[in-house]
Amino acid sequence: MGYFLLSAETSFSAAHTLPGVPLCERFHGHNWTVRLTVRMEENKLAANGMGVDFRDIETAITQATAEFDHQYLNEIPPFNTVPPTAENIARLVSERVTSQFTDNHNIAIEEVEIWEAAQYRVVYRPG
Ligand SMILES: [Zn+2]
Repeated sequence: MGYFLLSAETSFSAAHTLPGVPLCERFHGHNWTVRLTVRMEENKLAANGMGVDFRDIETAITQATAEFDHQYLNEIPPFNTVPPTAENIARLVSERVTSQFTDNHNIAIEEVEIWEAAQYRVVYRPG
């Protein structure tokens, strides 16, 4: 059976430090881009021909990352104890969206992508 992949993006600006990592251990910031891609089996398509509204996907990731905007990530749980890397942010976004969004919409998370810069991206696919 086929399936659909639907994506939306949001972004936030935040600072972090990554202790022990050359260059990254210095205080600096990024304009992070977050893309959530959800998967819907084709037999779950609604009668109106849509999987899930793009705006709903956008809202889900915007809410999952809202507390990070214009903050120093190392001060915000869980990043006061877990390094605020793109990898850990991607996994946290996946966990938040799973509990607050995908369980109610006949969709599953395919992947969460985080860019710290145009040329640097992490992809997290929940197991
Ligand atoms: Zn950085």
